[in-house]
Amino acid sequence: MIPLAIPNISGNEGKYLQACVDENFVSTVGRFVGEFEDLLAAATDYKHAVVTSQGTTALHLGLTALGVDVGDLVIIPDLTFIATANAVAHCKALPWIIDVSAENWTLDPVLLSKVLSENCEIDTNGNVIHKPTGRTVKCILPVYTMGLAPDMDAICDIAEEWGLPVLSDGAAALGTNYQGKPIGHTRATMTMMSFNGNKIITSGGGGVLLGNNTDLMERVRHMSSTARSGINYDHDIVGFNYRMTNIQAAVGVGQIEVLDTFVASKRKTASHYQNAFQHRDDIQPFMTAPWSEGNHWFSGIFMPDWTADRVALLRDHLRRCDIDARPFWQPMHMQAPYAQCPTNLQGVATGVWEKILPLPCSTQITDEELQQVTNAVLSFN
Ligand SMILES: *Cc1c(COP(=O)(O)O)cnc(C)c1O
Repeated sequence: MIPLAIPNISGNEGKYLQACVDENFVSTVGRFVGEFEDLLAAATDYKHAVVTSQGTTALHLGLTALGVDVGDLVIIPDLTFIATANAVAHCKALPWIIDVSAENWTLDPVLLSKVLSENCEIDTNGNVIHKPTGRTVKCILPVYTMGLAPDMDAICDIAEEWGLPVLSDGAAALGTNYQGKPIGHTRATMTMMSFNGNKIITSGGGGVLLGNNTDLMERVRHMSSTARSGINYDHDIVGFNYRMTNIQAAVGVGQIEVLDTFVASKRKTASHYQNAFQHRDDIQPFMTAPWSEGNHWFSGIFMPDWTADRVALLRDHLRRCDIDARPFWQPMHMQAPYAQCPTNLQGVATGVWEKILPLPCSTQITDEELQQVTNAVLSFN
């Protein structure tokens, strides 16, 4: 079966793992941890990088550092992976679920601005109060859908207007550019990335928080371990145990060394599928946006005029052709743990979920395999 997206471990990862063993540094201290942070900061043009055990823990850490607390609201897009919402719930806060734009499948700034104005007021302490629930909105959490950057300038303008921080979920966004520059140049307060097995690079599991505010990022680093403030087991605040290990970082360093070839392969796959279905009015490629050169973490097709059943039949057809085909993220408002959250939806995320089909896009996919996938899609009727 041609897999959907599998890791590509063919560089120095094994050598660096052996070095962890030889040098006897396997835990959260070791040279690869700092090296991976430096390489991540350099690749994204962020001043500071703090690596973590997972992307989810990076989000939890970041939200906590921004003061998200019991009963607060955090704005998230309807179309994302459940981990975004889970990180909010781990703070005992609630997601406020807002729809994505039909043009690019990322948090819709027009809708965001409208629903903030209609539902919120700023109280005498400068808190943003969501009038229907009486809860305090603490943060805006946009997501880089398929690696594509949201409209960050518009979102950050709105955030500044309301005095809210922005924590971006760029789980699979390494290698994506925003307005021709690495994403450290967006005005997000922090950006999170994940290095889980299926992301653009992997460290087995792992994540990072990236930021430019030195005080905030020092606090994040302090909280990421046990918030130790002195040698005599002094701890000044409640800390986590969310640091990445040297073993994870060793794999991550081996991966980021070849990031450019991974991104080139992902972009090549995206343009293959774009060209392959150009003659079909009913089959569109995944969205792009004028402000972002995406890394095309995931490629695939979108059939807005088909029924959801027909999309499911195509998925079955591909599997019979020995091609891995699966559904994509189910919108957050449909998830059992988040069914009661405040929402402002227009049906865009639901339509995307029903009508898209991710196609195989591992970085080691061959031209023959791409052609095989294309032929299989075109043979469906
Ligand atoms: C993968 C992913 C996460 C979670 O990262 P983990 O490292 O798996 O915890 C969060 N958000 C999005 C959009 C993701 O794709």
